[in-house]
Amino acid sequence: MSLHDEVTKRKTFAIISHPDAGKTTLTESLLLFGKLIRSAGTVKGKKSGKFATSDWMEIEKQRGISVTSSVMNFPYKDFQVNILDTPGHEDFSEDTYRTLTAVDSVVMIIDATKGIEAQTKKLFKVCRMRGIPIFTFINKLDREGREPLELLEEIEEVLDIETYPMNWPVGMGKRFLGVFDRQGKQFIKYNGNEEETTIPYDELDNAEHEELVSQATYKATEDELSLLDEAGDEFSMKSVMSGEQTPVFFGSALAPFGLQTFFDTFITMAPSPAPRKSTEGIIQPDNPDFSGFIFKIQANMNPAHRDRVAFLRVCSGKFERGMTVKLARSNKPIKLSQTQQFVASSRDTVEEAYAGDIIGIYDPNIYRIGDTLIAGKSQFEYDELPQFPPELYKKVTAKNVMKSKQFRKGLEQLVQEGAIQLFKGHRSDSNIIGAVGELQYEVFQHRMKNEYNTDVMLESVGERIPRWLKEEQLDESLYDERNLLVRDREGNPIVLFKNEFSLQWFKDNNPKVELIDLYEVN
Ligand code: GDP
Repeated sequence: MSLHDEVTKRKTFAIISHPDAGKTTLTESLLLFGKLIRSAGTVKGKKSGKFATSDWMEIEKQRGISVTSSVMNFPYKDFQVNILDTPGHEDFSEDTYRTLTAVDSVVMIIDATKGIEAQTKKLFKVCRMRGIPIFTFINKLDREGREPLELLEEIEEVLDIETYPMNWPVGMGKRFLGVFDRQGKQFIKYNGNEEETTIPYDELDNAEHEELVSQATYKATEDELSLLDEAGDEFSMKSVMSGEQTPVFFGSALAPFGLQTFFDTFITMAPSPAPRKSTEGIIQPDNPDFSGFIFKIQANMNPAHRDRVAFLRVCSGKFERGMTVKLARSNKPIKLSQTQQFVASSRDTVEEAYAGDIIGIYDPNIYRIGDTLIAGKSQFEYDELPQFPPELYKKVTAKNVMKSKQFRKGLEQLVQEGAIQLFKGHRSDSNIIGAVGELQYEVFQHRMKNEYNTDVMLESVGERIPRWLKEEQLDESLYDERNLLVRDREGNPIVLFKNEFSLQWFKDNNPKVELIDLYEVN
């Protein structure tokens, strides 16, 4: 198979959802389709009581959640699928956001009884801003939920995206009869615990379906559907690919109902790996030279080895185990012999991979988030990964001053790894950590103790709004606790405003001071 064909058959996507919307249930079904598992309940320990071999941290066990995104890779029909799971807990971290830089599309699961929920809104917004194609699965149709039209309206309004229902549900909960598959021009009948059946539109008039089509719910939905056909947005593949329109599928992950059609349609429509921007221009995925970037580093995936694994998205060419590549940042050659592919909860050695694939490489403490690896003669780096605005800030100190060396080392490494964002006091030596969620601090504290043998104390600085300053405009006297002046990693001055009000007050009173927002999402 040519390199081009190998690349084209790759489908790399993330599944995002609010906790309890049904991500685990849906993912399991996809793995069943891929024949990776034989029964449900094997993906996350939450239900089976078993924990994946990668339960790298006690926190996962204690809280029964998946702290870190994991990767699953499997062949399905003519495709090679890479699924990146993201923690669904509301305390997700920057890792979750960064995962989105490594995928070509996302599946967004929405609970029909709830609609779009607060925490996940941000994740969806990142997708919108980055123009990542979004495919929506509205779940739990077997329960009484909100009206389909209302749900679509909410998606359109909150995410500022067009919706195109690929199917249309007939009733819900106890009255759920099935869905009209608008593309396949067939009715998919819900049979409770029995397998779903499909009836082509032109067979619906047959006597055997009399009972179904005579129901009031069915009739009403038929009218709704014709209205949708006439007055709804038109389907546009172009808009889907640019992330301006989301195809919406209704179904039930648990039943399961409508999943096979959803997955088959999705996997066919979902984009293959796209060209990527680099310092030397656009790099095509079928460029013969291997290249990729690291979007995540995970420590202690195997507590017995204290290893670190760097997650690499292959962006061009072919990867072969044992090949020598260059770390673009330092130009240092590295032999990639310890590599992993992730299949559900196991980790297998990966022998080869192509653009689009996600692989794990052993990290002897040399990689950083955003690093580019390249083979061949080319010399370039992929675009820096975006930084996401922390929402909480805490001052951190070592409990034991004698441990200050380990403390500094731990901080430095965790910052490089992208686990936290660090800010320094403008004049003082204080360290302030920014994180997206509370859980990120727990993980930080845990790792400082376990990996660097340092107990740390955290003192809240609260929620803050960060804005950068120009060095030449810096006037220390303008800042205090409310408008906290600190330095970022590179030593640039940045102000952490207490809230919108103090930011606005500052702007009104210091119109000449330029406040710069370098973060991608707000
Ligand atoms: P996650 O937190 O997003 O991974 O959600 P889970 O897949 O763990 O599902 C949360 C709960 O919702 C579980 O109790 C599931 O059994 C249930 N659930 C998932 N999908 C459906 C569905 O389609 N219908 C119903 N009634 N329950 C569902």
